[in-house]
Amino acid sequence: MSGKDFLESVDKVFENAAGVLKLPDYIAKQIKSPNSTYKLNFGVKIRNRLFTFTGFRCVHSEHLEPVKGGIRYAIHADQSEVEALAALMTYKCALVDIPFGGSKGALIIDPNMYKPDELEKITRRFAQELIKRDLINPSQNVPAPDMGTGEREMAWIVDEYRKLNPIDINGFACVTGKPINKHGIRGRVEATGRGVQYAIREFFRHEKDKKIANIKGGLEGKTIVVQGLGNVGYHAAKFLSKEDGANVIAVIERDGAVYQKKGIDIDKLKKHIASNGGVKGYKGYLNNGNELLKHECDILIPAALEGVINKSNAKKIMAKVIVEAANGPISYEADTILRANKVIIPDLYANAGGVTVSYFEWVKNLARIRFGRLHKREEENKIEKLLGALEKVTSTSININYKKSLLKGSDEIDLVRSGLDDTMRQAYTDMSYKWHSSNKIKDLRTSAMCIALKKIALSYQTLGM
Ligand code: NAD
Repeated sequence: MSGKDFLESVDKVFENAAGVLKLPDYIAKQIKSPNSTYKLNFGVKIRNRLFTFTGFRCVHSEHLEPVKGGIRYAIHADQSEVEALAALMTYKCALVDIPFGGSKGALIIDPNMYKPDELEKITRRFAQELIKRDLINPSQNVPAPDMGTGEREMAWIVDEYRKLNPIDINGFACVTGKPINKHGIRGRVEATGRGVQYAIREFFRHEKDKKIANIKGGLEGKTIVVQGLGNVGYHAAKFLSKEDGANVIAVIERDGAVYQKKGIDIDKLKKHIASNGGVKGYKGYLNNGNELLKHECDILIPAALEGVINKSNAKKIMAKVIVEAANGPISYEADTILRANKVIIPDLYANAGGVTVSYFEWVKNLARIRFGRLHKREEENKIEKLLGALEKVTSTSININYKKSLLKGSDEIDLVRSGLDDTMRQAYTDMSYKWHSSNKIKDLRTSAMCIALKKIALSYQTLGM
């Protein structure tokens, strides 16, 4: 799907929801169009010659600041795609109650074509260009990882910001998704995949929604097909199979797919990809990867790129539930076909785990203290006293291993996961409730967008529009 089609798809969902809410035109217009998009071309000297790169940073909505959104490194990136992704960030933050506006950035590059030291030079130069225009700034615009970027790139970016702004005490909050030793937060790398897991768990707690999808029972043993075993897809597939007992029967990657009826060992496959550059050669390899999108399964998780489910294959999708871990994997046309008899858990909710934990990281950076540091021991002391009293009153001693597990105070990772779980549960409950309580809302996507738009419109109205 082209960036233009992606933007059109996002805008159609917006218009649909704006219609349901009967948003006044002047507010709808203000929300829908991006506030600004900055396009830059810059040169970097590598391999003894000058290479010119093109990058973008779109600020979609500044109704709340800072604005937030990842930086993607992809060869197919273009202005419309960045604008679509920035708009999704605005709606996503509003839906899950993260106090940020929406933004997104991209660099047109295939990161696999460059060595790490070359990528560092390119990233630092890109960051300089954005920093000097306040398009990276802890109080105005805070990027994060996205497709093709990760902790490493975020570490280079924060270092560049700190060099240019050495006396900014909040400098480390200029970007999230940093490594722990560069003021990152535990649980950020896994956050988007973890959020997908929590979203699916929450779906299983909603009987009405399960009935619509024709799904019975719990998550254990349910068959799952995942597209893209990158940051998001890998963590989601791993947690769902290892912790919830789901059966990941297929993984689709760039160079084909792996199918194993009894379930794939996700870590083993990930290691194979890391050492072989793809899934080829792994047990159960098939070269016609995308065919598996149509394979019979309970849950399909597209976690790679946009537009993979479109009018050409929508009618053949057999999954009962589709969880949009990627941004925009289902085109608007495909959505109109699929929503008739499936449950689609939409991107603006399903992959909100990343921005949620990014928010926690930003707060941690401003507070300059690790979550849990103040109260972990206090919590443990209280539990110890309580268990002691319980043992005394009942004249029984509690099993030592059970006691140990109860005696553990909350670490940062526990608090991050708890905050993320709460966010995902609450947002799903809101979406589901709205879906079933209005006859104008026919699906979770429209419901999610209505909730988000209502909050953004109110924010603009409060500002005096
Ligand atoms: P990533 O670069 O880590 O992984 C993408 C994976 O998809 C890679 O394994 C790649 O090989 C695979 N892939 C690429 N093209 C493919 C194709 N044609 N068919 C099958 N597989 C293909 O990226 P990511 O960070 O995991 O992001 C994936 C999606 O999730 C994107 O849409 C991104 O915007 C969205 N997302 C990411 C985050 C985050 O925190 N990283 C947060 C929210 C949303």
